[in-house]
Amino acid sequence: MGEVLTSPTMIVSPNFRTEIVIARQLRRVLELRMNNEHVTLRCQFCLTWNRVDASRIDDRPKCGKCERPMLLDRPWKLEEDTFARTIAESELPVLVDFYADWCGPCRTMAPAIDELARKQRGKALVAKLNTDLAPQTSERFQIRGIPTVIVFRGGAEVSRVSGAMPLPALEKLVDNASVSA
Ligand SMILES: [Zn+2]
Repeated sequence: MGEVLTSPTMIVSPNFRTEIVIARQLRRVLELRMNNEHVTLRCQFCLTWNRVDASRIDDRPKCGKCERPMLLDRPWKLEEDTFARTIAESELPVLVDFYADWCGPCRTMAPAIDELARKQRGKALVAKLNTDLAPQTSERFQIRGIPTVIVFRGGAEVSRVSGAMPLPALEKLVDNASVSA
């Protein structure tokens, strides 16, 4: 009697475990397929890099380490040491506003950039780079006048415009980058 009870358990058990493993692997594959684009961003508080699911940006994602909010309904501030990785690892198009605080046309365009970030959240990453604080990046991208807006897709520059633009022109730049992907 004891053997009858024991042996089925021993036979079923390894298969069951295998099935769990396969089910987990399948779920992972499905998650990767269905999902969803991600952005990789450095927390502005604790400086930990986070991979954020773009489709969940409206859920107000939090930093995995310090649990403070990653505020993605407004322009994301890039810096000299975060620029390259953020652009390279973003699966969304990234629009960067190269600006400076003393620049009048930059200030004129700032509300449109804010609105663009709000409207494009989850679809594009809208970011700002203060060129005074990031001379190396500004030089690398040969920024000759500000504001300059550059749109990146898959880490590569796909378009750039210098001079202040209204919101519809900014939206068009982002839309074109999304289509060309
Ligand atoms: Zn943090």
